[in-house]
Amino acid sequence: RIELRGVSKDFGNTPVLNDIDLSISPGEFCVFVGPSGCGKSTLLRLLAGLEDPSAGEIEIDGVLVNHLPPARRNVAMVFQSYALYPHMSVHQNMAFGLQHRKLPSDEIERRIADAVRILQLDSLLQRRPRELSGGQRQRVAIARAIVRQPKVFLFDEPLSNLDAALRVHTRLEIARLHRALGSASMVYVTHDQVEAMTLADRIVLLQPLAGRRGAPSVAQAGPPLDLYHHPANRFVAGFIGSPA
Ligand code: ATP
Ligand code: MG
Repeated sequence: RIELRGVSKDFGNTPVLNDIDLSISPGEFCVFVGPSGCGKSTLLRLLAGLEDPSAGEIEIDGVLVNHLPPARRNVAMVFQSYALYPHMSVHQNMAFGLQHRKLPSDEIERRIADAVRILQLDSLLQRRPRELSGGQRQRVAIARAIVRQPKVFLFDEPLSNLDAALRVHTRLEIARLHRALGSASMVYVTHDQVEAMTLADRIVLLQPLAGRRGAPSVAQAGPPLDLYHHPANRFVAGFIGSPA
């Protein structure tokens, strides 16, 4: 479970996120949407430990993680840009973090075999990232997150570099992965309405603060159809495309 209590983030004098109170359950698929610049990536980076909050508390699995480094948070992040190690094979990309954590090699190979099966990477294990298509790279990035067996997956627009067919295919893979993993929480950022509506147990719509100190970041949070049929205000209705 993830708990955010009064979480705010300023960059210099500019408030980017303000007063976020949210609780994300084990196994929940939580999708963050909102206009460009409203702080979605910043929120994922706060959860991952790549940024520190300016105020508030972040708890993961009952542990206050505010100042814990990324490696100790039990989260795995999948970026839009894949961020694979270019000089390593697909297999080494998956194994590296686990070797670093000193897991026994039979355990490492067992986890890799599972991820390879889920994402159908069998034929690609010895290739380097530059020898893969964008969709294949994205599958490797997801597989590398899976082998870490995190409690929390953080996805920042993971499908935005893929063509339309691969986007659908990989979206279905992520939905299947979510069902297969059971208790892992998914925190997912997207600009794609179809992804948000089909993947989310709950959508959290963030609004830009536009320099207004004091406005809360969360415009509305709830199941996709709730936001669609019962938008809290005109901003939500406009963004979600609710019928007038
Ligand atoms: P997009 O949908 O375009 O990806 P986003 O919702 O992910 O946008 P963020 O990347 O979180 O937005 O950025 C939120 C705001 O914070 C932006 O105005 C951005 O310029 C600013 N920002 C992000 N990172 C930094 C930083 N390291 N230093 C200063 N400002 C930053
Ligand atoms: Mg972003």
